[in-house]
Amino acid sequence: MPSFNLLSPIEDALAGAGDLGRALIGRERVRLAVTGLSRAGKTVFLTSLVANLLAAGRGARTLPALEAAAGGRLRAARIVPAEVQATPRFDASAHLRALAADPPRWPERTEDLSTLEIALELDPRSMLGQARALFAGPRQVTLELLDYPGEWLLDLPMLDQSYGDWSRATLARLRRGRRAEAAGAFLAFVDALPATAPAEEALARQGFALYRDALRSCRDKLGFRFLQPGRALNPGPRGEAPLLWFFPLPHAETGDLAALLARRHEAYLDDQRATFFDPFFRRFHRQAVLVDALGALHAGEEAFDDTAEALAAVAASLRGGLGLFDLLTGQGVRRVGFAATKADHVPSRTRDALLGLLGDLVGRDPAGPLDAATSVHAIAAIRCTEDDVAVLEGRPVAAVRGLRLDTGRVARVYPGEVPMRRPEPGYWDHPFFEMPVFQPPRLDGDGASGIPHLGLDALLAALIGDLL
Ligand code: GDP
Repeated sequence: MPSFNLLSPIEDALAGAGDLGRALIGRERVRLAVTGLSRAGKTVFLTSLVANLLAAGRGARTLPALEAAAGGRLRAARIVPAEVQATPRFDASAHLRALAADPPRWPERTEDLSTLEIALELDPRSMLGQARALFAGPRQVTLELLDYPGEWLLDLPMLDQSYGDWSRATLARLRRGRRAEAAGAFLAFVDALPATAPAEEALARQGFALYRDALRSCRDKLGFRFLQPGRALNPGPRGEAPLLWFFPLPHAETGDLAALLARRHEAYLDDQRATFFDPFFRRFHRQAVLVDALGALHAGEEAFDDTAEALAAVAASLRGGLGLFDLLTGQGVRRVGFAATKADHVPSRTRDALLGLLGDLVGRDPAGPLDAATSVHAIAAIRCTEDDVAVLEGRPVAAVRGLRLDTGRVARVYPGEVPMRRPEPGYWDHPFFEMPVFQPPRLDGDGASGIPHLGLDALLAALIGDLL
């Protein structure tokens, strides 16, 4: 069973009172968490978000939809100095330097949890605000960004599963298709264990090492995403600990080894809940989830189905199936924006199909009473292409044009078709989806006047527009 922190409601009330107090004096905090299934483009997204917000603060029209949502009141934006911050900091300037280099480079991806605060200065919203501004100065909103590893997102659906249920579901997935090959050594190991295997540490460590190798191969070689537990792939700032050394067993309810692994499974989930999910969901009410849906199409049927399953599980958890939004204290994720990234790989009309596909994957059911409002978007945090027309078998087709990183030449690329819904099996009979890496565009003034993007502003407007 999850452990309950008796202090939580009091902490929640205090946090709520703090937010209210800050609002009264015009010093609000807006907290936005950003994550994505691995390699979704999180580093690039955050870098572009920061650069474009700073540019908007200087008067550039880089985020029109967000500015409209904020009533055109944004006057200035600056990064808040780190001071004595305990969590690692998102290094926006280093990432911007890579993009501003000659030739421009993609930033190194970040793996760990990190945070960054941006102070936004806004004109007051109301007469009361104007009066307050006379003595308290302009309204200042601190945008707190939290960037956490996408792998951890997949721990969410684990929170309400017993070790037995998790073992069954995980082994069934691992035995399917190409995963079975990648996980061959691990599956052979667990299948050879007797139903009442002893709780030997050497056995547990060997099993975990094989399991982790299988997860890594599935992620790195096959492009799969539904891999658990998250800290087996990304241990995070606290490193590795014994509670992590569990893996799924075919006989999960018998024997001492199973009992040991079940205790670790429970301890792991308690730990993730206590040190990450609970404090995080208590404070971060807005959540952006990035998904490389085009990359998943490109990776083929199995990888696509796996991404679809992972996304559906995450969306169900975030939707409040776990009661994460607490009506009593008003805490929890209230708005989730799912975004299909790298949408500049397809021409504008195909982006509508991409949006439809993402909505289908996320399963936008009518909101239940505990639902965090969900929106879906197709975005490119850094737009590298323009729309163009290519000729395919003598017929004109919508394409994109950009500088390919591999050849260093401008190329016209017909990416292929994006289905509006989860593709029928027939779609994969002629699998064709091209997705080259494009060189990022050269930035005017090293990004000081913003970074070209697609739809970043609409996503931000949907997530935090109401708070500005
Ligand atoms: P992370 O692992 O989620 O942090 O992924 P990154 O942000 O490092 O992105 C991985 C790669 O995806 C980048 O190096 C780019 O090649 C590509 N990428 C990310 N965002 C975009 C985008 O908006 N447009 C294009 N064309 N490529 C992108």
